[in-house]
Amino acid sequence: MSPAIHVTTAAWDTIRREVAAGPSHLETGGILLGHDFGDLLQVTVAGDPGRNSQRSRDRFLRDSDHAAQLAARAWEADRAQWLGEWHTHPATPPAPSSIDLASYARHLQDPDLSFDRFLSVIIGLDDQRQALVAAWIITRDVVTPVPIGLGDPQ
Ligand SMILES: [Zn+2]
Repeated sequence: MSPAIHVTTAAWDTIRREVAAGPSHLETGGILLGHDFGDLLQVTVAGDPGRNSQRSRDRFLRDSDHAAQLAARAWEADRAQWLGEWHTHPATPPAPSSIDLASYARHLQDPDLSFDRFLSVIIGLDDQRQALVAAWIITRDVVTPVPIGLGDPQ
């Protein structure tokens, strides 16, 4: 069974801030860190893109050094692990592109990263910059859409 995804208010605030700050025609994104409880992935930290990220209309390449620093800090703070990444698309509905899927496949195959599954959160932005958020769990074999909850439970 696929896990549900929960993004804490703190992590979601970071994403909202980065989305609001960026020029609308460029993608932005960052890594997602948190805890894997098996049937629930809890995202507690969302990374910003970092100064050396490459952003264009149809792809986002994160700043790897910056991501590694964020990951080390989160692990130090509460053993949060690198779960996946978020990025924007300049269109709705959001769905992983072939470029995205190729990059996730590289992560899953990288023995240094030891991912069993990779969380992809994509924020599709329409003409009014309204966000539509969706999530997928990527494994070596399948790409599965999963439910995502944002912010603290009411
Ligand atoms: Zn994409």
